[in-house]
Amino acid sequence: MLAYLVFAAAAAAADLAGAALVTTAHRRGLAPLRYCVAAGAGFMLAAAFVRMLPESAHVPHAFLFVLFGYFGVHLFEHTVAPHFHFGEEVHPEALLRPSAGYLALLGLGVHTLFDGVAIAAGFRIAPALGALLAMAVFLHKVPEGFTIASIMLAGGHTRAAALGAGALLGVLTVAGALATSLIAEHHVGYALALSAGVTIYVAASDLIPEVNREGGPALGWTVFGGLVLFTAMDWLLAGFGGH
Ligand SMILES: [Zn+2]
Ligand SMILES: [Zn+2]
Repeated sequence: MLAYLVFAAAAAAADLAGAALVTTAHRRGLAPLRYCVAAGAGFMLAAAFVRMLPESAHVPHAFLFVLFGYFGVHLFEHTVAPHFHFGEEVHPEALLRPSAGYLALLGLGVHTLFDGVAIAAGFRIAPALGALLAMAVFLHKVPEGFTIASIMLAGGHTRAAALGAGALLGVLTVAGALATSLIAEHHVGYALALSAGVTIYVAASDLIPEVNREGGPALGWTVFGGLVLFTAMDWLLAGFGGH
């Protein structure tokens, strides 16, 4: 029953890979990442509405926890942290203070903690749900590591610090998964409701605006590609006796 840990560790490695990309690769070679952001947004919203919300709805006041999750991310990512975009940093002038990088790390850290919570809560309810939520997390992990490393570099930090920030997001993902494995069985629904709110925020309020800002119909269509991918994967997993 350590599958959740394997998936959380893989997601954590993707955070580090994203950070490594921005510190080593040539910028122009990173354009395909935008398609990951778009597909990830579609997949995450489908996972949240079709699987996470129904699976958590049985706990009392479930939707209040969804709201807490949603606005918790808004609080940490967009009031405590300076204004940033999910993707390459486009406001270096606003991020020149080194503290801006740390505040962004705090903001994205709260969100990544719940990436781990979603994976572990999913696996505790059903392995198929866990695999589906791991996929939703995985699709936006490389862009996530890319984002924090880009913000750290824009804030004047070293490449080592940028890599370290990506690694820390990975560690927080695993920490969220481990913490969720410790909570009582009847509280797992709350963890899932909270992470549903986080997932909806990240997909609809962070990723979709990035897709629209970058523009282009091909990128817009890729969001629907994420929905198709979700449908196919959900159907395949159901075949393995998931739901
Ligand atoms: Zn902006
Ligand atoms: Zn994430």
